[in-house]
Amino acid sequence: MTLHEELTAIAEEARSWRRQIHQYPELLFDLPRTAKLVAEKLEEFGCDEVATGIAKSGVVGVIRGRRGEGPTIALRADMDALPMSEQTNLPHASKVANMMHACGHDGHTAMLLGTAKHLAASRDFAGTVVLVFQPAEEGGAGGRMMIEEGLLERFGIDEVFGMHNEPGLAVGSFATRPGAIMAAGDRFVVTLRGRGGHAAAPHLARDPVLAGAHLVTAIQSIASRHTDPFDPVVVSVTYLAGGSATALNVIPAAIEIGGTIRTIATETRKAVEARFRDIVTTTARLFEAEAEIDWRPGYPVTFNDPAMTGAAIAAAASVAGAERVDGDYPCTMGSEDFSYMLQKRPGAIIWLGNGDSAGLHHPAYDFNDDAIIHGIGYWAALVDARLNDRDG
Ligand SMILES: [Zn+2]
Ligand SMILES: [Zn+2]
Repeated sequence: MTLHEELTAIAEEARSWRRQIHQYPELLFDLPRTAKLVAEKLEEFGCDEVATGIAKSGVVGVIRGRRGEGPTIALRADMDALPMSEQTNLPHASKVANMMHACGHDGHTAMLLGTAKHLAASRDFAGTVVLVFQPAEEGGAGGRMMIEEGLLERFGIDEVFGMHNEPGLAVGSFATRPGAIMAAGDRFVVTLRGRGGHAAAPHLARDPVLAGAHLVTAIQSIASRHTDPFDPVVVSVTYLAGGSATALNVIPAAIEIGGTIRTIATETRKAVEARFRDIVTTTARLFEAEAEIDWRPGYPVTFNDPAMTGAAIAAAASVAGAERVDGDYPCTMGSEDFSYMLQKRPGAIIWLGNGDSAGLHHPAYDFNDDAIIHGIGYWAALVDARLNDRDG
């Protein structure tokens, strides 16, 4: 059986695992069913070690090559879904209300399982492959918790690699870039406190709604007036709450404003936070309100090591053909908790084409099973490239 025939057979199996996982999505760290399936498969394939319960529900499989000593590389997949309702009407659609694999982590998990099956059977490399299945990518920083629980030291990981599907990129195509590929995403909730009162006598109240309206527009000046136009910054207010639609003659005592701020450069991230705090407190004071800022630091910038990105591009080109690999793909302002692993070890994340599908986090999204063979092929080629020194 050729490698291609073997991977094609594995991809067929992985499709059914993917659809099983898709039907029973689970959230954040609470992944009993998914983690169990992953651990059982890894045991069945004959991994040298299967560790569970890392960062509550993370699973790690270890496969040692039969060609002797060599480096240890980690391949990472995320397992968690999103708290939203699926609207695909597919036979394998989510069977759980208000939970959905809308980011394709079901596909990432299935592809890494398929890769484990192939690697455990062939072991045609020198060194060790660590398969990392992490919980809580969608907002829970499960990757960071795995690191805090000693993932990198415990398994002696030298390099880290990630893969995420990309709607709009053709199936069989890959894309990545050296350096920053995704943004840092911080969040905020501001409570503006004034003094409530009768809407007909605003002079006796201190209206936090008016202060809030000014605040929403004032913080847009951070991106438009305060930072270099060539240094990306996004400020999005996504949450406004206060008052009551059944008490329209009442000025509320307080309102809340929340949102997210995305940056690329680390110095800009700090400067933008300082500017944000300044504008919020100053605007509040201007309207005789008080501001309480709940600043919630999110995932840091996702930074691809240039040399490792070169290796990822070469591995992708060896399976897809160079013309189907974009090594200078634009950075996005999304964020990803694989960033924490990339802060600690050299590595790279790559986008895998999901074809003309609905976008990530859209209720009509579905991971494209035709991409599975390409994802497994990439992982296999990457392991071969990093752990088989053919010239040496
Ligand atoms: Zn997502
Ligand atoms: Zn995702």
